[in-house]
Amino acid sequence: MEKYKHLGLKLTPQRLAILSYLDGNKEHPSAEDIYKAMSKDFPTMSFATVYNTLETLRDKGGVLELTIDPNKKRYDPNTAAHHHLICMKCKRIIDIHKEFSLNIPDEMTEGFDLVGNHVELYGICPKCKKSS
Ligand code: ZN
Ligand code: MN
Repeated sequence: MEKYKHLGLKLTPQRLAILSYLDGNKEHPSAEDIYKAMSKDFPTMSFATVYNTLETLRDKGGVLELTIDPNKKRYDPNTAAHHHLICMKCKRIIDIHKEFSLNIPDEMTEGFDLVGNHVELYGICPKCKKSS
């Protein structure tokens, strides 16, 4: 939770609950997932509260918004550089910690200084492979 302090968020009990749910979470949950998880302890929390908190967090750099799942945005509290692999059937997303050396010829980058990359990999997970 310490890592969210410097973001300058107003920490309401509801926001704290969302932050502690996200802290160390490797599931890449959607806003709906988080809303469902919150509804046990905070039955009055609205979906808008969850969504707005995620947008604020994203804007402040506290969470990554992933678009690798075509059906819904997914959120990643791990903001350090890494890549993602998604199962095209069940939409499970796992982290890929590897440095890819992408050699982009200078004439393609039109003078940009490259500062990073995010590789999205697609596949079928073992569970889905078994059940198909
Ligand atoms: Zn799967
Ligand atoms: Mn991740």
